[in-house]
Amino acid sequence: MKVLKFGGTSVGSPERMTKLLDIIDPTERQIVVLSAVSGTTNNLVEIGQAYLAGDKTRATELIKTLKDKYEIFIKELLTKPEFLAQGKEVIDYHFGLLSNLANDLFTTIEDKIILAQGELLSTTLYHVYLKQIGVPSVLLPALDFMKTDEDSEPVVDYITEKLTPLLAKHPNNNLFITQGYICRNVFGEIDNLRRGGSDYTASLIGAGIRSEEVQIWTDIDGMHNNDPRIVKGTKPIAQLSFDEAAELAYFGAKILHPQSVFPAQKYKIPVRLLNTMDPQAAGTLITNDSEKDKIKSIAAKDGITAIKVQSSRMLLAHGFLRKLFEVFERYKTSIDMITTSEVAVSLTIDDTTYLTEIKKELNAFGSVEIDENQTIICVVGDFGVEKHGYAAKVLEAVKHIPLRMISYGGSDHNLSILIKTEEKTEALRSLHNRLF
Ligand code: ADP
Ligand code: ASP
Ligand code: MG
Repeated sequence: MKVLKFGGTSVGSPERMTKLLDIIDPTERQIVVLSAVSGTTNNLVEIGQAYLAGDKTRATELIKTLKDKYEIFIKELLTKPEFLAQGKEVIDYHFGLLSNLANDLFTTIEDKIILAQGELLSTTLYHVYLKQIGVPSVLLPALDFMKTDEDSEPVVDYITEKLTPLLAKHPNNNLFITQGYICRNVFGEIDNLRRGGSDYTASLIGAGIRSEEVQIWTDIDGMHNNDPRIVKGTKPIAQLSFDEAAELAYFGAKILHPQSVFPAQKYKIPVRLLNTMDPQAAGTLITNDSEKDKIKSIAAKDGITAIKVQSSRMLLAHGFLRKLFEVFERYKTSIDMITTSEVAVSLTIDDTTYLTEIKKELNAFGSVEIDENQTIICVVGDFGVEKHGYAAKVLEAVKHIPLRMISYGGSDHNLSILIKTEEKTEALRSLHNRLF
């Protein structure tokens, strides 16, 4: 079975939704994962923020504006009165729920219920559309099989356990539709896999059912060799290894959710990145294989905080790094980059929730310096131990930009530098011009 995921723009208009069948072959048994209609999750975020701020009037206005959009949407999508009536019921139900959520106490639990409505709407409306045109399909509720554990990590075995019987119930059905992004957490509450999480859903389902392939259909012809939103003339990469794709996704290539590669990688399921607007384009194939002797792509991750701990006493002592890392572990804060010298350690984090507490504890080791508004630029390629010259090329390209940290040799395929975010655009462009 294949898993096909369509992102926000791919379901972004009634026309786009109807065109999905140019790509989906309803005679093949497959699971189709849909994101919310583009823009909807952003709107839902705003509605939640208004409620959280206690501004019910603003929330009501935002809900009305969004509902009006869906009223128009269903009129174009569902052209037969019987199905338009069904579509109307669907949106009345979901928008009624949004309106009623603030009647009692509004907390992050209700906020997450709000965020889930986008994918519930898109999948249910698409299901009604398929009925209208006589294409049989089964709507699978993601909340019945997508679950995260106490560390907010999805549980693949749970997906297998729950999804297998759901699929077996419909032996004669080919097309299964489900929601990306949404899940239940360890308390059974509605939650999500963080922004862009539908990619992660697709990969998790692919792993859960040991699918033959996962296809991520989006609005661009695969992973490009630099961020197309910032750099002109970027090109798609035909082939990437799981490790390379994971580095790029984690370090900012928005086309893939940061964690989405791992489930597919674990079960060796090929992932294809494909373009809904140009289905014939080759896109990017992600497997265990990698093209050798090449710099493949550049990505950038903003919102990074660098922390430097300086201590001539402690660094010579063994066990110092362990004690330092334990501080981060206690606050469940992951570290991205590390560089060390004999008297100091610099490292980066992106989650600053506990920065004050972390800094306080680090003060026990020595002097602590914090630099905010940093960006990691990650260059991915084949940089095995026998290779030479690549680091020189990268550093030459950014020789006019102050570098806060350099990390090389951590793996065979990543060279990262840390710079001020204000230098990012220049760094990406200069690297692009010199490396490709
Ligand atoms: P979807 O809604 O289909 O999930 P996204 O907006 O999340 O789509 O991801 C696709 C977008 O990612 C592209 O339109 C592009 O602007 C952006 N992007 C950022 N970096 C890259 C890259 N290296 N390669 C391709 N696309 C990228
Ligand atoms: N709709 C969610 C978002 O906008 C999930 C996704 O599109 O992947 O973040
Ligand atoms: Mg996305």
